[in-house]
Amino acid sequence: MSEQQNSIDSVDYDVVIIGGGMVGASLACALASQTDKKIAVVEVFEFESDTQPSFDDRVIALNYGSRRIWESMGLWAELEPLIEPIKDIHVSDRGYLGATRINHQEENVEALGYVAENRIIGRVLMQRIQQLKHIDWLCPAHIEDLKQNENFAQLVLEIAGQQNNVSCKLVVAADGAMSRTRELTGLGVKREDYQQSAIIANVATEYAHNGVAYERFTESGPLAFLPMTPSDNQQRSTIVWTIHTDETENIMSLSDENFIAQLQQRFGFRLGHILHAGKRNAYPLAYVEAEQLVKGRVAIIGNAAHALHPVSGQGYNLALRDAAEIAELIATADDPGHALLLAEYEASRRKDMLRVYQLTDTLVKIFSNKFTPLAHARAAGLIMLDLLPSLRHLMARQSMGLLGRMGKMMRRIPL
Ligand SMILES: Cc1cc2nc3c(=O)[nH]c(=O)nc-3n(C[C@H](O)[C@H](O)[C@H](O)COP(=O)(O)OP(=O)(O)OC[C@H]3O[C@@H](n4cnc5c(N)ncnc54)[C@H](O)[C@@H]3O)c2cc1C
Repeated sequence: MSEQQNSIDSVDYDVVIIGGGMVGASLACALASQTDKKIAVVEVFEFESDTQPSFDDRVIALNYGSRRIWESMGLWAELEPLIEPIKDIHVSDRGYLGATRINHQEENVEALGYVAENRIIGRVLMQRIQQLKHIDWLCPAHIEDLKQNENFAQLVLEIAGQQNNVSCKLVVAADGAMSRTRELTGLGVKREDYQQSAIIANVATEYAHNGVAYERFTESGPLAFLPMTPSDNQQRSTIVWTIHTDETENIMSLSDENFIAQLQQRFGFRLGHILHAGKRNAYPLAYVEAEQLVKGRVAIIGNAAHALHPVSGQGYNLALRDAAEIAELIATADDPGHALLLAEYEASRRKDMLRVYQLTDTLVKIFSNKFTPLAHARAAGLIMLDLLPSLRHLMARQSMGLLGRMGKMMRRIPL
C-alpha cells in the first residue's frame, strides 16, 4: 500500500467501503459483478464474528423493494428459504375500534415483505463476499484518518494493529449511526433522541400467525408482532415493543412470566396465549440525519446517513436503496468518486430519505401520543384507511418501497 499518491491512476482502490455491517456488506455484494474494479471493505470485527453487532439477534422486515434488490444481487434464492413472508399487515389501536388490514392479494404481490434474522442476512452476505476475488475484506480494521484532494482520498487505516495508508477514488461510509468517517469528512448531522427504546424478543404463540404481521398501538407505545419461521414445531413471532426510555430497566428486568403477562395484556389474544418469550434486547432510539450525503470523494449510506425509528420497519430497506443507487453509479464510471456522479447520488437519495423520514416521524408522533382527542382521531384515521382502498394502496406502496425512482436493481436488472 502506497505512502503517497499523486495521480488518480495509481490509487490502491477504486472504492473503499468503511463498515462491513448490514449495509456495507450489502453494497459489496451489489458490486459483485464489477470485477474490473478494485474494492476494499474495512470492518472493525473479525470476518463472520459472532459478536458483530450489525448481524445480531435483531429480526427485521424486508420490504418487497428489498426483495427485488436481493434478486438483482443474485442472492434471493439463498435467502428466501430461511425467512418468513408477510402476507397481510393488521394495524390496530388498543382500546379503540379502528383497525385496518393491508393484504398482499390486493397489492398483487406474493408477499408484502419478509421477516429475516439479521444473523441470517449476515451469513448469506458473507458467504457471497468470500467468493469475490476483487473485494479485499480488511479486518479487524478501522479508519483513523481521512484526507482528500480533487483526485483521490487518502485514508489512514489501522489493520490488525498496523497503520496503513490507502488511497482510493471513492470512500463509501457505511459505519453506522456514530460514523467516524462522517465525522472525519466534516459532514454535519441532525440528531433527535426519541426518549424511547425498542425491546425485541422472539415469542412462541398458541396459534399460527398465518403470515400476518400485527402493528398495535398501545398506551405505552407501538407494539409489533412479526411472523417468523417455525422452530422446533413452535409457532414463532418476533416482537418490537417501543417504550419510554424510563420504563426500559423495569421491563428488561421482569421475569419471563411477568414479561409475557404484560405483553399479553397489550397485544390481546389474536395469536392465543403467548407460551414462551426468548432473550430480550433493548435498543435506545434516536433519529440521525446527515446534513449532506456527499462531500468531495466521500458518500455516506445506511445508518451513517439516516438512522430511523423502527416503527415503520424501513431503516435497512431505505439503506439498501442507497447501496443499490451508489452501486449503479459506480458501475457506470471510470472515476466513481467524480463530483457529478456523487451529486446525482445526493439528489436522488435525499428525496427518498425525506419521504421515508416523514412517514416514520408521522407514525412515531401520532402513535406514541396518549392525548385523548388525538387518540380518537387516530382511531378514526384507521377506520378511514380501512374504508378507502386507494389511500391504503398508497400507504402499502410506500411501505413496500415501491414509490419514487426505480433504479436498475429495483427493476431486477443486474449491474
Ligand atoms: C430494534 C430495531 C428494529 C429494526 N427493524 C427494522 C426493520 O424491520 N426493517 C428495516 O428495514 N430496518 C430495521 N431496523 C434498522 C436496521 O437494523 C438498520 O437500518 C441497519 O442495521 C443499519 O445498518 P448499517 O450497516 O448502516 O449500520 P450498522 O448496523 O451500525 O453497521 C455499521 C458497521 O460498521 C462497522 N464500523 C463502525 N465503525 C467503524 C469504523 N470506524 N471503521 C470500520 N468499521 C466500522 C461496525 O462494526 C458495523 O459492522 C431496525 C433497527 C432496530 C434498532
